[in-house]
Amino acid sequence: MSIQTQTPAPAPAMDIRELMRRRGLKEWRLEVTRTSELTPRMRRVTLTADDLEGFEPKGGQDVVLMLPDTEGALGRRHYTVRSYDPARRLIAIDVVMHGDSTPATRWALGSLPGDEVLAFGPRGRNVLNPGADWRLFVGDETAIPGFFGMIETLPRDAKARAIIEIQSDADRQTAATEADLQIEWLSRNGARAQPSSPRLIEAIASFQPPPGAGHIYLLGETSTVRAQRQSLVARGFPKANIFAEGYWRPDRIGGHDHVDDNH
Ligand SMILES: Cc1cc2nc3c(=O)[nH]c(=O)nc-3n(C[C@H](O)[C@H](O)[C@H](O)COP(=O)(O)OP(=O)(O)OC[C@H]3O[C@@H](n4cnc5c(N)ncnc54)[C@H](O)[C@@H]3O)c2cc1C
Repeated sequence: MSIQTQTPAPAPAMDIRELMRRRGLKEWRLEVTRTSELTPRMRRVTLTADDLEGFEPKGGQDVVLMLPDTEGALGRRHYTVRSYDPARRLIAIDVVMHGDSTPATRWALGSLPGDEVLAFGPRGRNVLNPGADWRLFVGDETAIPGFFGMIETLPRDAKARAIIEIQSDADRQTAATEADLQIEWLSRNGARAQPSSPRLIEAIASFQPPPGAGHIYLLGETSTVRAQRQSLVARGFPKANIFAEGYWRPDRIGGHDHVDDNH
């Protein structure tokens, strides 16, 4: 790969590098190969590097990207590895366009082939539970890369159901899977995503678990995920069979929220 860097990645403060190293996260200097529009509200950034040996994401895992703000200072943003093609050394990251002026949305809109970005990972406990009889995935559009990343590793005929809130029907996507997958898309009819989504909370409140040991994945806006988890736990669904994580919330910059009994 020739390095024709149009925008070199700014150097992160050494303490971030050290922090990531202490967390056991590998560092990768990635190069943008292209950006494209997947749906009106989702852009794909495709990345590569000369050497990706040891980059081995499981479906649903993410990387921490170091993205510049308007002053050039780097901030951490978590993005799921939507797909990784080791033979072609191509990594796909799908970014929800919840606007066009935040570090991540500007990156997805403005990156050019050859631009560099620093990434740490892959990381995250958001991976498939192999022993489940069935799986339910419930979340907003930020969860699509993680849900589809996991669903696409399911074996043929494995049972999976997904309930996903999107801004409009044009934001639907297709998962490449032979699993027995049923997706219910909940459209906001053009409205922006809000905290405590009534549609998603109601979807969980009315969910009747099928027989067998199921595993439920709740990802998206933190207050929605928290309300959904509480509703399941109150009805006796085993906590150990719920994975819940807050991917964003109003006024939070980057980061992630644990959603458990204490949070
Ligand atoms: C493990 C993990 C994996 C994730 N994977 C993905 C992924 O694959 N694709 C993806 O698009 N997102 C993903 N996210 C969510 C993403 O990291 C956040 O949305 C992030 O805050 C976006 O950064 P930003 O620079 O655009 O906005 P920030 O600078 O972080 O935030 C600026 C403002 O935008 C608001 N905001 C941030 N995200 C949203 C949103 N989605 N909708 C409405 N308002 C928002 C914030 O509340 C804040 O007020 C993931 C999060 C986690 C924790």
